[in-house]
Amino acid sequence: MTIKYSVVVPLFNEEEVINETYKRLTTVMQQTRESYELVFVNDGSRDRTVEIVGDLCSKDEHLRLVNFSRNFGHQIAISAGMDYAQGQAIIVIDADLQDPPEVILEMIWEWKQGYDVVYGKRLVRKGETIFKKASAKFFYRLLRSMTSVDIPVDTGDFRLIDRKVCDVLKGLKEKNRFVRGLVSWAGFRQKSVEYVREERFAGETKYPFKKMVRFALDGITSFSYKPLKLASYIGMALSVASFVYLIIVLYQKLFTNTTVTGWSSILAANLLFNGIILMILGVMGEYIGRVYDESKDRPLYIISETKGFANERYMVGS
Ligand code: UDP
Ligand code: MG
Repeated sequence: MTIKYSVVVPLFNEEEVINETYKRLTTVMQQTRESYELVFVNDGSRDRTVEIVGDLCSKDEHLRLVNFSRNFGHQIAISAGMDYAQGQAIIVIDADLQDPPEVILEMIWEWKQGYDVVYGKRLVRKGETIFKKASAKFFYRLLRSMTSVDIPVDTGDFRLIDRKVCDVLKGLKEKNRFVRGLVSWAGFRQKSVEYVREERFAGETKYPFKKMVRFALDGITSFSYKPLKLASYIGMALSVASFVYLIIVLYQKLFTNTTVTGWSSILAANLLFNGIILMILGVMGEYIGRVYDESKDRPLYIISETKGFANERYMVGS
């Protein structure tokens, strides 16, 4: 039997929300009156998430579990879900019910109108800190200004993609994945559906500051090399400035009585330039590190077990 819809849900320590998420998703998917599967990807949770999903799997044949051997990260969990999804349309949704499952029905409607990618656009974000909202807003606009790929602002990974888009994404082997950017990069007919981002149903965010920074860097380095050009721009500006300053100093020395004084100004200039050089080295390091990751060519993820598939697969992700 061919499956029409696959709903991919990444899970990291979500024991408090999983049952409710399962119920809401099931209610929504049954309203479609078409075949569906729920692909839960457990991203190395250290709580009871995997037991709970395992139990649900044995009761409901619509469920699939893909269990990672450790925490590989949200974007990789989504990618694995896409690898395992069998549906004609694949829907990616967070486990915490911040993205209302009911919106999926709207996405499916748009898909049936002929769109290949239907992404959710957050109109309002409820129950998130001012810092998170402000940093997200800043990040999406910064990213947009830096890249030529048209990545829509204020959209997350909550979206529906057609089978053919999913197949394109499966063929992209990059390790530091920024999935929402890759979807935009792939092109096809895209459409947005607006929604209000709710508060987390329970538990707390699994994106601490460190992960957010890494995620942002992945987004920028995957889709822009503008930061690398920083060195030449700053270098040029500084050369011009120091040349002008040199002329002023020479003029003072040769034609006036002022003596050029001060070791503190030398120190300040030194610190400034060294700071800039180190910063640029850091930017280069971010890119070189990612090139290093690619060259090692390790698998994207490792599966320890799967449940709910016709033939269980203990495979390593490509
Ligand atoms: N998640 C994951 N691996 C991680 C971090 C998060 O699979 O390392 C999942 C998490 O379980 C949730 C989704 O990614 O389903 C989004 O995470 P969260 O809601 O904590 O992020 P936020 O909404 O706060 O940005
Ligand atoms: Mg969330």
